[in-house]
Amino acid sequence: MKLIDGKALAVKIQDKLAEKVAKSGKTPGLLVILVGDDSASQVYVRNKARAAEKIGIRSETLHLPDTTSEKELLACIETYNRDKNWHGILVQLPLPKQINEERILEAISPDKDVDGFHPLNMGRLWAGNPLMVPSTPAGIMEMLHEYGVEIEGKRAVVIGRSNIVGKPMAQLLMMKNATVTLCHSRTHHLADITKKADILVVAIGQARFVTADMVKPGAVVIDVGMNRDSNGKLCGDVDFASVSELASLITPVPGGVGPMTITMLMKQTIEAAQRQMK
Ligand code: NDP
Repeated sequence: MKLIDGKALAVKIQDKLAEKVAKSGKTPGLLVILVGDDSASQVYVRNKARAAEKIGIRSETLHLPDTTSEKELLACIETYNRDKNWHGILVQLPLPKQINEERILEAISPDKDVDGFHPLNMGRLWAGNPLMVPSTPAGIMEMLHEYGVEIEGKRAVVIGRSNIVGKPMAQLLMMKNATVTLCHSRTHHLADITKKADILVVAIGQARFVTADMVKPGAVVIDVGMNRDSNGKLCGDVDFASVSELASLITPVPGGVGPMTITMLMKQTIEAAQRQMK
């Protein structure tokens, strides 16, 4: 087994991005909108701000109260859509229940939608002509590339069909000519399917759900999950101890997919800024 070191790769890519920004002499701007006091969201937002600063992206977090109405948030997004100083706009999810998430994501200008969640960007991806792609699957593709994983003609299985991970992941793998199966909570005989995967991506949010008996020896296993086990320890959706015995390559949690997600977000912010400043 070989470990896919997402943390090291993220540092390497972030260094290159910093160089690119410095060389261009133009500063990209990333505006992050956080509504409410969700503690996990606060950590994510802080990590994004830290990465942005390291790379030379100007970033600001607009922290709105939990009681913000949908109308107020829409008005706020509209202001920043028009403001040329901000090239990327990101609304941290989840949002308080009085706000419709879909309506908010649709309100962000597709050119500034660095998360790639706008229906136009999702549609572009499914049409095979992506512009901005959700960062987590984009980061996974980068890891597969860096570690020389052959994708064409391989059987890839993705567990989880969310708009932010599972679905775009399946499409990105398909665009690289993998034969893709997308599984979810209603899939029958899941292990029979996962056992045939050359590349297995797990994004379900269930601690250590995928065990060795579900994995083909020699498979490449990508664990997206971020869970706390009963002892409060951070762990993935894959039972690392048993699966790492038979996988050819595997991502750890933490230190795998997570750092790459933030890095891809920064990369897309820089690309968006360059398009807008042209
Ligand atoms: P969602 O809750 O949106 O989606 C979970 C998906 O998993 C659903 O499609 C669901 O099926 C499926 N699922 C749930 N239980 C099972 C099961 N027992 N068997 C098969 N399929 C199942 O989650 P996200 O995609 O947002 O996130 C998934 C995990 O990845 C979470 O742990 C999250 O924290 C983590 N994550 C990590 C990121 C990182 O950067 N490292 C970024 C984003 C997410 P159905 O559709 O039928 O309900």
